[in-house]
Amino acid sequence: MPVLHISHNKRAVQQNETAFELTISLLRKNLDFSTNYSSRSSNMEEVSQKIEVIDINDKSKEEEGPIVPHERQLVDGVIALWKEDSNNENLGMSKLHALLRERHPNWSVSEKRVKTLLKKFGLLQSNQQFTYANEIKSEVTPDIVLPEKVQIVMTSKRGKGLYAKKDIAKGDLIWEETQLFFIPPLANVNLIKLGKACSYCGKLLENTKSTLRGLDCNVCSELWCSLACKKTEANLHGQLKHNVYNPGKKSSKTIDSGAFLELQDYCLTEQWNALYAITIIYANILLDKTGVKGKQFRAMARVSQDIRYKALNSSAGAFDSLQGGALFVQEQQETLWKEGYEKFLRVFPNAASEGIDYREFLFMMGTYNINNLDSCIFLTQSHLNHNCDPNTSVETQQLRTSGLKVFAARDIRSGEELTTTYVNPAHPVQQRQRELRVNWGFTCACTKCKSDLDTQHRRKSSSGQASTRADVRKLLADTSKELGEGSIELGIPEQSGERRKSVRFDEKVVAVEEA
Ligand SMILES: [Zn+2]
Ligand SMILES: [Zn+2]
Ligand SMILES: [Zn+2]
Repeated sequence: MPVLHISHNKRAVQQNETAFELTISLLRKNLDFSTNYSSRSSNMEEVSQKIEVIDINDKSKEEEGPIVPHERQLVDGVIALWKEDSNNENLGMSKLHALLRERHPNWSVSEKRVKTLLKKFGLLQSNQQFTYANEIKSEVTPDIVLPEKVQIVMTSKRGKGLYAKKDIAKGDLIWEETQLFFIPPLANVNLIKLGKACSYCGKLLENTKSTLRGLDCNVCSELWCSLACKKTEANLHGQLKHNVYNPGKKSSKTIDSGAFLELQDYCLTEQWNALYAITIIYANILLDKTGVKGKQFRAMARVSQDIRYKALNSSAGAFDSLQGGALFVQEQQETLWKEGYEKFLRVFPNAASEGIDYREFLFMMGTYNINNLDSCIFLTQSHLNHNCDPNTSVETQQLRTSGLKVFAARDIRSGEELTTTYVNPAHPVQQRQRELRVNWGFTCACTKCKSDLDTQHRRKSSSGQASTRADVRKLLADTSKELGEGSIELGIPEQSGERRKSVRFDEKVVAVEEA
């Protein structure tokens, strides 16, 4: 069953914006444009005029004798080749240079200059691709109750992982679990406020007869869909939605609900699910008297959000409208994170003294991003490592609060590692590998990846590139369709939120997962 993530529809918007953003971003770097967000739209016209001028010049010059292309033209030329065929991203420098010369016969440019420029723009490909798997740290998970046939093994190579303790037959239910941290759907926040969706699970409420059954909040206008939801959320709800913060009384009230409601609106405007999620996670941690939830979250595979961002920045995929082209400048991203941190601190005035400094905040965000499934955090499931041909099938339930079930996708032998897929296995190998590298920091070397790459090499050498290209194009087109149709949970965000682009990476770069 395909699981559609909220991040889908962002992609739909993104696809229209990317080409333009790319040009702007490159121009910005070269022409030293202001990085001020609000100046962006006024720069738009200016930029498009410049683009036209450059285009016209290009044409007239190309007809004449050899020219030395401007660095921007050169980088644009390379990017055009990458966009045209994702296989071009894997070309070595000399082949890339040759292809560039073929397309622009009158360009006078050395291989060295192409390399230098790509390096300058952080676009150098192949071996130098940034991975951060070695930056991901994890610890032994405290107080975890594991399913009968499963154990956790820690290896230096793969970190924590789940392994079969006994043989498991295909189709067997290996375990089921509910969320360690349940994150209500951000998209439904406004409906929740109006009492039209459950305050906890976000389920739409068809009528308000439920007030008669005692499912309403006696302080605010929010409602729950069931007694179970009300009971689960009651304490958290009160703390987040109408707690009175008293700065004089330290430690007893550590949540400022006014600031939370502001943060909630801010996250909705910015489409920033990760900030919303870690705020709810931290509130849960504070309210957990046993302290176990905090320790468990802290022991998960951890990485700082700014490290993840580096992988995106060094990816040619950032220029590809299908693969999550979130091109933006570093300062913009940092400004936004800092703004998010300030808002977080207003919700939890004691957080800084409780160890959540800005650095830790980025870690929380990174940790959430690499561990969440369907926006929520599951404890046991978060231990599953990736394989493009996984031996388990993770199925989330129709009713989100029911959690998930994990089945054996084939016979599994005792001692085998249990795996899931973080990406859509139907996507072309290059796309999968880029998505895994950017989102989770590693280069996949699974059997399926190896055999897919082999097949491609063979096809290339026997019948030329035509068939491969056509295949890849078709797959990309299918993906595009899939992404375009994914706008189920969330309306297309309003176009006005310019800075939304900068937070995209705080969600997954990839939107489709087959569960
Ligand atoms: Zn509910
Ligand atoms: Zn209430
Ligand atoms: Zn793989």
